Formats: sequence, structure tokens, C-alpha cells
Amino acid sequence: MSANVLEVAGLTAGYGQIEVLHGLDFHVEDGEIVVILGANGAGKTTTMRAISGIIGRSGTIDFDGTSIGSAKPDAVVRAGISQVPQGRGTLTDLSVEDNLRAGAYTVKGSVSDDIDRWYEVFPRLAERKDQRAGSLSGGEQQMLAIARAMMSRPKLLLCDEPSLGLAPIITQNLFKILGELRDEMGMALLVVEQNAGLSLQLADRAYVLETGHIVATGTGEELLADDTIKQAYLGGVG
Ligand code: ATP
Repeated sequence: MSANVLEVAGLTAGYGQIEVLHGLDFHVEDGEIVVILGANGAGKTTTMRAISGIIGRSGTIDFDGTSIGSAKPDAVVRAGISQVPQGRGTLTDLSVEDNLRAGAYTVKGSVSDDIDRWYEVFPRLAERKDQRAGSLSGGEQQMLAIARAMMSRPKLLLCDEPSLGLAPIITQNLFKILGELRDEMGMALLVVEQNAGLSLQLADRAYVLETGHIVATGTGEELLADDTIKQAYLGGVG
């Protein structure tokens, strides 16, 4: 049995007086790909922000055997968690290469080998390394956002709606790359998505989030075959 790299219990978080997450329990095993599926406003981004320490939260968050439930964002990154924010969050005025360097701010020593490695994984970024990040296509920016997050050498990568604004074929390719990264590097992935069709194919396990509560869980396959999930997230198709 694998150990849990991330274990979250009773997680509550919100904005000001408004509680958005009402006590979430979930976990991610070593090397596992876990998807949190939810509609607009369900609390997916809030969950990512709570793990990353960008917003206040309560409950327990254990990562790799250490409590990070009250850690600040840079301590969370140093512990080994990196986030690809929704909307990619690339530094649009900086070059592709400077974005990659910015992602390695917690790493001591040379990061040239890391940069070369990500250029191998994403050759389009190598071709455009001196271009402003803002001039890249949506798919290229998403690749850059992932490569930038990987520059801190995380054990767990958080991806907030990687499919947003991308054509299905580009999303499919991106998910294929995320699966390969997990296989090659043994890192774990926690992905939040509205796109059930593609993300559940990628997932080892998934949770369904509705208005700040987890209402269902299962393997990607089980949830893809579930009629309620089909109705709610796949337009009843399938
Ligand atoms: P989406 O797919 O639209 O990003 P989501 O599942 O990621 O949805 P969240 O962004 O986590 O949802 O939002 C959950 C709830 O929190 C929503 O009701 C939203 O209006 C509210 N919310 C999000 N950000 C803030 C904020 N900065 N201040 C106040 N309320 C917020």
C-alpha cells in the first residue's frame, strides 16, 4: 500500500466572513493523480489556495509527514508543493526563460540543467525562449506555467483547471504530458477541473466537490461510468 503524500482533514476556508469550504477530507497517495471535479464556484480554486497557504484555512493539512496547515506560501513551496494557478499566472512581460528562472526561486545553485530538461519536454518553449511569455498561444502558456511550477522540483504539483480556454486536442496533449511526468518522475498530481471527460481519464482517483462539500469519490473509471456524474458533468452523454 502506498503512503499518502498529502492528507487533508476537516479543511475549512473562505473569504472574510464567507466560508466556502465546509470541512473537506481527501488525500493523495505517493505518485497518484487525483482530480477534484466541480462546477463553477464549487470551491476548487479555494481548495488549491488553501493548500498553498495563499488564504487562511483551518483543519489539518499534512504533506510528506509534516504539518503545513499554517505554513506561509513560500514555506509550502519549499516543502515540495508547487501550484499552476488558474489562468496560468505566467509573468507576461518576461521572456519564457526568465519565467522558468523565476519558478526556481527556492532552489539553491544552478538551474541550467532543469531549464534544458523542460525545453526537452516542451520543445516549443525552447524555440520561443527569448520571446515574451505574453506573446505565446494559450497552449504554450499553459506548458510554460507547468514547466515554471516544475522548476521548484516539487513532490506534488497542484494544477488549477489546466484545460481552461484550451481546445480539446491541446488539453488532451497536455494531460498526456502530465501523465508522463508522473510516470517518469514519480511525483503526485492534484488537478482541479470542470472538464470531467478528459480529467477523469487521467485520474487514478477523483473527488466531486459541490458547494464546498465532497459529495462523491471513486476511481476515474467509476466516476466516468456513474449516471449522476454523467448528467452533471458530461451533459448526460456516454
Ligand atoms: P471556477 O471554476 O469558477 O473557478 P471554483 O470551483 O474554482 O470555480 P472558487 O473560485 O473556489 O470556485 O469559488 C468558490 C466561491 O468563493 C464562489 O462562490 C466565489 O464567488 C467565492 N470567491 C472566490 N474568490 C473570492 C474572493 N476573492 N472573495 C470573495 N469570494 C470569493
